[in-house]
Amino acid sequence: MKKTALFPGSFDPVTIGHVDIVNRSLSLFDNIVIGIGVNSSKKSMYSIEKRKGWLGKVFEDKEKVSVQQYEGLTVDFCNEIGAMFILRGLRTSADFEFERAIAQMNRSMHGDIETVFILSSPGLSAVSSTIVREIIKNGGEASKFVPAGIDLSLG
Ligand code: ADP
Repeated sequence: MKKTALFPGSFDPVTIGHVDIVNRSLSLFDNIVIGIGVNSSKKSMYSIEKRKGWLGKVFEDKEKVSVQQYEGLTVDFCNEIGAMFILRGLRTSADFEFERAIAQMNRSMHGDIETVFILSSPGLSAVSSTIVREIIKNGGEASKFVPAGIDLSLG
């Protein structure tokens, strides 16, 4: 059976931190599905089309990686795509506490799905979509925190 992992997130926008986690996980799984969670009550800065387009382009030469959007529970989407693993990155102890609660809840709903954590690379633990959005909102230069070729212009 193929080992498929779902890497869920908002990717609003994708950062070099996300790319690092996916690239370092390639040898662990047969397939990695990057799942853009669409939450109608959470307003994103960039459209789903833009986020999907960026991720598709960044990983276009990685056969194992695909990009999909989903709504609803992450574990339900895992079942839909046959993913037995949820991939998440850990930057800080705050991430750990937050992720622990989600992973344990997911496990109590679907005991056969394991969450796998990858620690952020040294130097990337401060990179987050939230900070990138703040830089952009305030007219700063955020391009070094996102993969090459990503057009961060709004609209
Ligand atoms: P969410 O909206 O669920 O917080 P994000 O799109 O911000 O999702 O991130 C998706 C995943 O990528 C999360 O597991 C997050 O911890 C991880 N991640 C984001 N930035 C980094 C980074 N710099 N280093 C390691 N993991 C990261």
